[in-house]
Amino acid sequence: MKTYRSLVLVSSDARSLELGAQQVFQKIQQEVNRLGLDEEVSVSMVGDVGRHDAIPMVIVYPEAAIYGPVKVEDVPFLVEEHLYKGRIAAGLQASQRELSGRIAWISARKGTLPAEKRVVLERAGVIDPDNIEDYILHDGYQALGKTLSEMKPEDVLDIIKKSGLQGRGGAGFPTGMKWSFVAKAPGKKKYVVCNADESEPGTFKDRLIIEGDPHSILEAMIIAGYAVGATEGYIYVRGEYALAQTRLRNAIQQAKEFGFLGNNIFDSGFDFDIHIHSGAGAYICGEETALLESIEGKRGEPRIRPPYPTTSGLWGMPTLVNNVETLANVPAIIQHGAEWYRSIGTPSSPGTKVYTILGNVNVTGLIEVPMGITLREVIAIYGKGMKEGSSFKLAQTGGSSGSIIPASLQDTPMDFDSFTKTGVALGSGALLICDEETCVVDLAKVLLQFFRVESCGKCNPCRIGTERSYTILDSISQGTGTLKDLEDLKMLSDKMTTLSNCGLGQTAGTPLRDVMNYFRAEVEAHIRLKVCPAGVCPMSGRH
Ligand code: SF4
Repeated sequence: MKTYRSLVLVSSDARSLELGAQQVFQKIQQEVNRLGLDEEVSVSMVGDVGRHDAIPMVIVYPEAAIYGPVKVEDVPFLVEEHLYKGRIAAGLQASQRELSGRIAWISARKGTLPAEKRVVLERAGVIDPDNIEDYILHDGYQALGKTLSEMKPEDVLDIIKKSGLQGRGGAGFPTGMKWSFVAKAPGKKKYVVCNADESEPGTFKDRLIIEGDPHSILEAMIIAGYAVGATEGYIYVRGEYALAQTRLRNAIQQAKEFGFLGNNIFDSGFDFDIHIHSGAGAYICGEETALLESIEGKRGEPRIRPPYPTTSGLWGMPTLVNNVETLANVPAIIQHGAEWYRSIGTPSSPGTKVYTILGNVNVTGLIEVPMGITLREVIAIYGKGMKEGSSFKLAQTGGSSGSIIPASLQDTPMDFDSFTKTGVALGSGALLICDEETCVVDLAKVLLQFFRVESCGKCNPCRIGTERSYTILDSISQGTGTLKDLEDLKMLSDKMTTLSNCGLGQTAGTPLRDVMNYFRAEVEAHIRLKVCPAGVCPMSGRH
């Protein structure tokens, strides 16, 4: 392996590319060549580097100097100063905030808040996602090698069960149990499906996991296939995720060339192949049974369960459906063991959680932290506090189907168990932080507008409930609501939650429930006083 004096990494998530990362990368290469440094300096494009306020970002190792946002015209100075003269290129550095990955977070809850712990994103922002050799150099496919050469399928199931890994798509179902159901289910063929149809507004963690480290998903799917007895896998990727799809296709091609996919992998006699299926823009296709219908070429409508996909999934065969983030944990668990994994996070929710932070905080972006960190800590440490002049009012976790968390719950540990006990949901990983200028009626209206459009219409509680809820909220926001509307909203929320066929309808009532539970006085002010306290609704005259 060739070693270099300096390693230059350029962020290459979709947003960085939009802002010119490719041109910055090419210009750095040009300048490195011009100065005759190409034997000493390696330049790579990597995935998401964890912060989005200074992209395209360039990181230079071994100094771990962080530059950003870097423009093409900045490059000659940056290369000459840092790589040729050996000093920091003054004026181009990103604002002070330590990065994760190779640069450890040093944070401070009583001086001991754990560093941002990277399991899922360990290689994202570090390796070249289009280069399988870089993945292999960073321990890639070692877990697969260990699985196929040292472990029986039951051993794999056992370690995943013991690790306590729970589904990261939002529901938190024990992953090992789901794998065991598929392994036990009779069927002449079985499938592994990776759900990458990430459509929750504000959620983009799965995209960044794939863009930064696509091979980790393939490796996990092959391991899962071996454990449950499947020989074929599908990755259902959101249609808008063009870069993620390109990287996955490239990764599949490379994995086949290296013998990690195909027949008789590692001479083990085990065969596995993976296909990509692009979504077509329907939010409901993120629901696992609608997703299966879509792969089968049918209209993406959720099935009535039971039977569950674990026994009757794709083309009626036992099918394991796992979210991207869930799968991305698997290689590390196999490599380091269940005990290691359980040492991260909380006893009831081991491991880490990847969040996308957005809204009224100073720093937005992607973080991976141990389960159990509080919302207050996320805002203070990783979001660098609320924007100047604003104060925290609420957070929405998990995109449109998540919970609305008031300030009084800011110190609740963010893990599946603690959130369930508190009566809120952790959701899929988006953290929308809102200040006091956010109106809860307006927020709920926007969310219900989303659900009424995305409801597939198959069942009445959801189809009619989302429409009716939106109409009532609109009326309240216009100043024409009545107190009876509040009772109707509560009833609609209850009925949608308990009677809807799938997760969309079952969670559409969540924002209504939370708004009524935590912000009823503000809603009543719209009705009794004809006032929007946040000054947002049409009655306030801003529209
Ligand atoms: Fe369709 Fe909504 Fe019923 Fe789900 S709950 S099946 S999205 S109508």
